[in-house]
Amino acid sequence: MPMIRPPSAAAPVPKPTALALLYGLALAALLALAAPTLARADTLTVYSARNEQLLKPLLDQFTKLTGTQVQLLTANEGALLARLNAEGASTPADVLITVDAGNLWQAAQQNLLQAVVSPVLEKNIPTHLRDPARQWFGMSVRARTIVYSKARVAANTLSSYEDLADPKWRSKLCLRSSKKVYNQSLVAMMMQELGEAKTEAIVKGWVANLATDVFADDTALLKAIAAGQCQVGIVNTYYLGRLLQADAAFPVGLFWANQATTGVHVNVSGAGVTRHSKNPALAQKFLEFLSSDAAQKIYTDKDLEFPANPAVAADSIINSWGSFKPNPINVSKAGELQAAATRLMDRAAYK
Ligand code: FE
Repeated sequence: MPMIRPPSAAAPVPKPTALALLYGLALAALLALAAPTLARADTLTVYSARNEQLLKPLLDQFTKLTGTQVQLLTANEGALLARLNAEGASTPADVLITVDAGNLWQAAQQNLLQAVVSPVLEKNIPTHLRDPARQWFGMSVRARTIVYSKARVAANTLSSYEDLADPKWRSKLCLRSSKKVYNQSLVAMMMQELGEAKTEAIVKGWVANLATDVFADDTALLKAIAAGQCQVGIVNTYYLGRLLQADAAFPVGLFWANQATTGVHVNVSGAGVTRHSKNPALAQKFLEFLSSDAAQKIYTDKDLEFPANPAVAADSIINSWGSFKPNPINVSKAGELQAAATRLMDRAAYK
């Protein structure tokens, strides 16, 4: 159930209607000058699908650095997009934070974000981790790769996502539900690389190899591998990281997929400035802050993700997995192909 906490009951932002006409990019500089004079220029409202506990230290840091008060509303991504659509131009939101390029792409597609031209963001965030139209920027990288039972599988028998369709894994594979956007994005990337027919054959092979029903989340899947219910699976690495943090002897290993070919599927959590932000200059400043060294450390260490800014080092659990070759395809492809990927998984009877 989505937990929606309304922003504080502070007075709504008075919005000079003439200013609404000035939101074009060409006037970004003018807005930067005008913003501090707006009534609530020192308050920023963030809608976030990342939980409050992960974001709070960052918001506090931003307040400390800039004097800006941040109002936070957290909910799942579907609820946030619905809310932004319903609120339209009267939304109090300045910034949207969500996970998965598929969701960020949806937000841009629904006209809920605006382009941000920022040399700081372009320096800090690599090209393949941000929207080519500049409407959102990846702030952390999540890698979705192969995990295996250390007791039952030799790592050298693993190779790629495609190989998990091989009959040698019959009744040994565990997968999370295809309803999760993470898997839709993974399959979308495969479609981009391998084409539709080949990807469909692979997904059918996965389904044929399932040891049991699909799982509702990655953590349950990892525990099923540990318990011997299956031997291999595909998860986002931070879920394994969290289990290892709790128990260093957790008997599941991590294997970097497709290192000889296309690279590991990566996705992002990211942020954009809302289309109807009353404070786009301040919202941009917040995004730039999120991409900075200090903020990237806080943003990623707590959730055991990889910093999007390549100048920032990852947490030690993450480093213990060694470096890997990521798939260099722009993550926005995942959004573009999301609907087709969902249809493909339906045809393959991937529940
Ligand atoms: Fe997740």
